[in-house]
Amino acid sequence: MVNGSTAPAGRLTIAGLGPGALAQITPEVAAALQSATDVVGYLPYVARARAVCGAAGAESAVAWHASDNRVELDRARQALALAAQGRQVVVVSSGDPGVFAMASAVFEAMENAEPADAVAWQTLDVQVLPGITAMLAASARAGAPLGHDFCCINLSDNLKPWPVIEKRVRLAAEADFAMAFYNPRSRSRPEGFVRLLDLLRAHCEPARLLVFARAVSTPDEQLTVCTLAEAAPEMADMRTVVLVGNSATRRVGRFTYTPRFYGLPADGASPGNAP
Ligand code: SAH
Repeated sequence: MVNGSTAPAGRLTIAGLGPGALAQITPEVAAALQSATDVVGYLPYVARARAVCGAAGAESAVAWHASDNRVELDRARQALALAAQGRQVVVVSSGDPGVFAMASAVFEAMENAEPADAVAWQTLDVQVLPGITAMLAASARAGAPLGHDFCCINLSDNLKPWPVIEKRVRLAAEADFAMAFYNPRSRSRPEGFVRLLDLLRAHCEPARLLVFARAVSTPDEQLTVCTLAEAAPEMADMRTVVLVGNSATRRVGRFTYTPRFYGLPADGASPGNAP
């Protein structure tokens, strides 16, 4: 080794487990789990990772570090410390680890490391492995509601003030983006989604299409498509991602889609002839 130490080189992998179904975990993430010595994450995600390893007969060799959702930074520090000791650590998130999840928490912990840990943590072998994020799993189930420009907003105001959310939603509606809302409604914040619906109603027409996609790719999956006029706060909970179409989003048969051409006739006229 370069530093002359005999300690094994640790590695920290930050992996996305997809929306729920084991079939939607990438082979790359499954392989990382199978060679892990330690798996760190929120309880239900660690259970999902265990199922992957169990299916491959690799479960027994792994140390499982499951913790409550509210301690993301502690979990990130624990993972960095284990990897710095030479362990092969996988931190698991649902969906994609870079979308409102653990990848940012790990880099934040790395940046704010105690001086004694900073060099070891900042020179670790770290890799981020993508996963299928909730909005893409939901969009695929519905058809193609995110088929044109869209944006993605976390409605939890635990980590940012409501006026920021409000400004982003208002400007996204004005720019006619389709939108995906994560963490739409929890028992501790029931009022945020009510305010969101009021905000959307102030800026979008009543016939605007919404998709409430709950627990996509799990046995509890539920998909509800309705107009903004029909939408009610109870349609969303913390297992739901809410997609809001743009002004051109429409239905064909049982599908909801957004055309690829914007401001053009639906007969596929060439974009070069756009008015
Ligand atoms: N990193 C995750 C998002 C974490 S935030 C990802 O990329 O998907 C948690 C929010 O994600 C939930 O409140 C919900 O809005 C959404 N979500 C996660 N899994 C979901 C699923 N299977 N179906 C619908 N929404 C889901």
